[in-house]
Amino acid sequence: MDKSDIEAIKGIVGERRCSTRVAELYSYGFDASIHHRSPEIVVQPSCTDHVSQILRLANAKRIPVLARGGGTGLCGSAVPLEGGIVLDMTRMNSIKEIRVEDLYCVVQAGVIYDKLMEALAPFKFSIPTAPGSGEACTMGGMIATNASGMRAIKYGAMRDYVLGLEVVLASGEVIHVGTRTLKNSSGYQLERLFVGSEGTLGVITEATLRIVPKAKKAAMILAAFDTLELAGKCVSRIIAKPLIPSAIELMDSTCIKAVNKTVRAGFPDVEALCMIEVDGEPETVEKEAAMVQQICREVGATGVELSSDPKQMAKWTYGRKSIMSSLSRFGAGFVSVSLADDMAVPISKIPEAVVAFQAIAKDNGVIVGTYGHAADGNLHTKMLLDPTSEDHWQRGEKAVGEIFDAVISLGGTVTGEHGVGISKAPYMRKERPEALETMRSLKRAMDPNNILNPGKMMDWEGSIIRKLRYPCEKYER
Ligand SMILES: Cc1cc2nc3c(=O)[nH]c(=O)nc-3n(C[C@H](O)[C@H](O)[C@H](O)COP(=O)(O)OP(=O)(O)OC[C@H]3O[C@@H](n4cnc5c(N)ncnc54)[C@H](O)[C@@H]3O)c2cc1C
Repeated sequence: MDKSDIEAIKGIVGERRCSTRVAELYSYGFDASIHHRSPEIVVQPSCTDHVSQILRLANAKRIPVLARGGGTGLCGSAVPLEGGIVLDMTRMNSIKEIRVEDLYCVVQAGVIYDKLMEALAPFKFSIPTAPGSGEACTMGGMIATNASGMRAIKYGAMRDYVLGLEVVLASGEVIHVGTRTLKNSSGYQLERLFVGSEGTLGVITEATLRIVPKAKKAAMILAAFDTLELAGKCVSRIIAKPLIPSAIELMDSTCIKAVNKTVRAGFPDVEALCMIEVDGEPETVEKEAAMVQQICREVGATGVELSSDPKQMAKWTYGRKSIMSSLSRFGAGFVSVSLADDMAVPISKIPEAVVAFQAIAKDNGVIVGTYGHAADGNLHTKMLLDPTSEDHWQRGEKAVGEIFDAVISLGGTVTGEHGVGISKAPYMRKERPEALETMRSLKRAMDPNNILNPGKMMDWEGSIIRKLRYPCEKYER
């Protein structure tokens, strides 16, 4: 990228909307993963035409482009691995239409999830994917990673809400895919192609999203168990009843201790907890809450607490949402890193999976906190390690490989909601080797000059402990 390219970009978006200041480039080199690489310029487009003109230029000059939303990605998908241009999409943040009678809304890609929920609330509607990062992540980033959250078991993931998209292709061409209708059998479902594409196939500029009415009432049950395995068994017993709660969150003792210490979550200090939410019409909530409590006791819960008090439920939810940040403050010199952080297994395999994770952590001498949206089989582990220690990284990476081998052998996937990026790239290749060539062919067809978020997913080679954000001499930064 040379001076004339920078001048050309300034000419497109205006001087105030680009930066080449070292501090700013450094900041835009992070997402929430373990990786870092500074771009050469940060640009804030304010309309689709800006995005189109920048991609046209980048494609002609073979300059890498990374579309960035809130930068909350946990796997390095928003780290500009090969420098180039970061397109900060957060200025394209207008909610263009809310049409409750047609069950959709139209938003620009940079709209923050919580802001959209605030705008939908007066209509008693929402998009209940509810990621833990809702206050910062954008709708574009959520679509590009197929994000979801604790309510996916009942309400699905972002792919279930995308009706139509406006996308700028690598060539700069603007295309509209999908529809504004709830049903559509009009050819290839191209809008789905961009869900989970992590910015490698095009830049999403606008989305038409399905909206659903908010549940009238909710209640939560907190059930304590002597082992994580028993808590896992409780999850599949509830689902098999059959009973589809709006959420079941699982937490092990490392996570419980961390949130009790750092945010005074007030959870009982036990080996494992299930936090179960039921929602719907008031009488349904009452009936399902009673059924859940009974199942928990039958499975062997040592304590069962019920609440429908919004304040208490918000406190438990806050405790659960604070696990990641609390783990980082758990032990001096240790940080919690997102390694093997987001696998999903068939629901009935949760007990086996959590037992395997605990054994792998012990064998490798690493501290692992296990939690997750267990109702849909999505488990998170966070490793606590000293990021300046070569030995810690080596043991951590070995444990990651073993955890993912266990997940794959249980019929699971290495990422349920956070995406592949860098941190899961080698393991995705192990999980679905026969899909790789098709993914590469699609990428070549849509981005022949490989300018869009290059080097990620199927194109990352070798160890994931590289391009680190931490100072550790052994590892290439
Ligand atoms: C505390 C915390 C809690 C979290 N909890 C959850 C959770 O519960 N569920 C969950 O799913 N995730 C969770 N995440 C991960 C993360 O928030 C999601 O992956 C989120 O969808 C990323 O959105 P973003 O706007 O921050 O995207 P970014 O991190 O900026 O980007 C992520 C990817 O999307 C691409 N992208 C962004 N915008 C566009 C666009 N307009 N067009 C094309 N590509 C684009 C980027 O290139 C990148 O590949 C959590 C993260 C944190 C830090």
